[in-house]
Amino acid sequence: MGAAFQPRSKEFNDFNALKNADDWRQKRYGMTKLVDRFSRKIDYLRISITDHCNLNCLYCAPFGGRRKLTHPAILSHEEIVRIVNGAVLAGISKVRITGGEPLMRRGVVELCRMLSALEGLESLTLTTNGVRLQEFAPQLHDAGVKRVNVSLDTLRPERFRKITGYDLLSQVLAGISMAEEVGLRPVKINTVVMRGINDDEIENFARLTLKKPYHVRFIELMPTNGCGFGDHESLFMPVEEIVRVVKRVGELSLEPAVDSPGPARLCSLPGGFGRVGFIAPLSHHFCGSCNRLRLTADGNLRTCLFSEKEIDIKGPLRAGASIEKLADIFRLAATRKPHGHRLKCTEVEKTFGRDMQAIGG
Ligand code: SAM
Repeated sequence: MGAAFQPRSKEFNDFNALKNADDWRQKRYGMTKLVDRFSRKIDYLRISITDHCNLNCLYCAPFGGRRKLTHPAILSHEEIVRIVNGAVLAGISKVRITGGEPLMRRGVVELCRMLSALEGLESLTLTTNGVRLQEFAPQLHDAGVKRVNVSLDTLRPERFRKITGYDLLSQVLAGISMAEEVGLRPVKINTVVMRGINDDEIENFARLTLKKPYHVRFIELMPTNGCGFGDHESLFMPVEEIVRVVKRVGELSLEPAVDSPGPARLCSLPGGFGRVGFIAPLSHHFCGSCNRLRLTADGNLRTCLFSEKEIDIKGPLRAGASIEKLADIFRLAATRKPHGHRLKCTEVEKTFGRDMQAIGG
């Protein structure tokens, strides 16, 4: 079992004593939170560490999860750690590693170990398709990763092959069990619902929470670049409809908001061990409470998943920028964070400018 923080310095012990990244930042640097123009506290950074993926999901990477970025274009581990140092100084206290498929990146465990040892970082989590999770879960836990989100859109092997291009469902399920076993809890399962493709499995996914302490979160399909496999409007299933289907399994009790930070509205089913969550980026977008910035695999800060505007942080970093300067770039990014995205359910806009793999979903 690995502790996320290894006491190394007086400041580090202060952080552990204060148990709160804002208090620690204030005490150490005399600085407070990172707040944007709309009074949103920005404390969460999602980092795509590779644009490579081992699945070709039809709505995400239908033409193959192939690498487009060259090796020199991608941030090294040391560069990511330095950028996160700047981020923490600016006010970020939570980091999620994503991709592409993050477990495809060589040395991902070592990177996690380096990040989780950073003073001021409260939480390190990871999003994966689960294919390599059985092998990696114990090491990730040991390296200080607190939780994992696993993307899984079907519980049927044949359908899994159709959606992802590979016969790997059993590996993913084994990965989920292993994550639970080693303590990467709660394991969150993210299921993108597509009408006519997997909407007949909503009840079965919800029933998983009756047997296991998983958080199963249903996500509305977004009109991303990869979403060219069909007409978004006909595939899109709004969260209200998903909720109605889940209610066939049992009455839903809303969990207090304090227990469900983030974009998901969390509920529980009677007698269930887990939670059912609903994430509606389109029909009830959560822009008003968005607390995140994104770092792309090639070193750009993105202020909104749906905005093509990016801020280069790799350039200044490679030109020798100090940690303080990097923190300034995070502050600049916060000031440029838009109020919200303008996507509507019925619009198939291709505003991404990049594939999800490079941005990190
Ligand atoms: N490979 C990792 C994984 O599968 O979790 C991390 C990257 S993947 C791009 C992150 C998440 O984005 C996945 O849960 C995937 O389902 C989601 N995603 C990709 N395209 C999407 C879309 N068009 N609508 C909704 N979610 C999408």
